[in-house]
Amino acid sequence: MKFVRNIFSLVIAIVVLISAFNSEAATAQQAVFFIGAKRYVVNGQSIEMDSAPFIQEGRTFVPLRFLAYALGVPPENIHWSDESRTATLSKDGVIVTTAIGKKALYINGRQVKTDVAPVIIPPGRICLPARYIAEAFGHKVHWNASARTVTITISTRRAKVVIDPGHGGHDPGAVANSLRESDITLDLALKVAQELEQLGFDVRLTREDDRYISLEGRAALANQWDADLFVSLHCNAASNPAARGFESYIYSRAQSSTRELARKIHERLAAFLYQFGVPDRGIKEANFYVLRETKSPATLLECLFITNSEDAKLLQDVNWRSRLASEIAQAVAAALSS
Ligand SMILES: [Zn+2]
Repeated sequence: MKFVRNIFSLVIAIVVLISAFNSEAATAQQAVFFIGAKRYVVNGQSIEMDSAPFIQEGRTFVPLRFLAYALGVPPENIHWSDESRTATLSKDGVIVTTAIGKKALYINGRQVKTDVAPVIIPPGRICLPARYIAEAFGHKVHWNASARTVTITISTRRAKVVIDPGHGGHDPGAVANSLRESDITLDLALKVAQELEQLGFDVRLTREDDRYISLEGRAALANQWDADLFVSLHCNAASNPAARGFESYIYSRAQSSTRELARKIHERLAAFLYQFGVPDRGIKEANFYVLRETKSPATLLECLFITNSEDAKLLQDVNWRSRLASEIAQAVAAALSS
């Protein structure tokens, strides 16, 4: 029997190994730049450039625009400022700015010192060591001195989003117009999470049913998982039944990356809600626990006033709630992908 067991574990080990190799092959993508060659290869496909990588000051410089393309940065996310002589690239919530002649780059507003500065070569291409940009986006770079190639292993990590349906269990949140805030936020959150997963994001919910979760527990889940974005869903309430509309919150001392993500999400949702006569109350700042204690960018959406009869009528409509949830998912996806 021992022999059979050993054979069995060997078979299991081989199956595990094969599947590990397969998943590696499926996720690892590579881009290769060659010194002196006006082409690069990405996933086996050769693509032409109008300038070639070169060596200067002992470093390999590659054209920024083609490097960005190789990393999957879309052309509309590459911006050049004549005034400041800076180039800005953005993808998946990461914004990288580099300035001609400056030995530093900015990653989401944070300065990172570099040992050489970007240069411009004919026909007006910014060149710099691939490592600076590739690593800023989370990829790995390997220099092969004998082959004179720069190989970038492109990680295809999915962005991690926490959706936080407010309240639950013994805490129903606001209750009015036969609506409970905790029910609405849960219904929206489940739909948002499902759609984000379909869009390729890695999603976690702070609760998936009607239960109480402390604010500490909500923030801890996001922090332990090392989330990229935390989106808390709530409905508003006011003693004045005329108060209505949509508003977003960010932490009062939020960083620029959080402000940028929250703005994109808010603007898209406000435009969607405007069609239904829902006023845009803007992005507000607050010292809410889940916004302050989450390490990732975080925003809290106050999805209409359940104390207002017109807002409540929209929230009572289950089909309309599905449309709102879909719009929230699309807004989050677009914000993280630009
Ligand atoms: Zn609430």
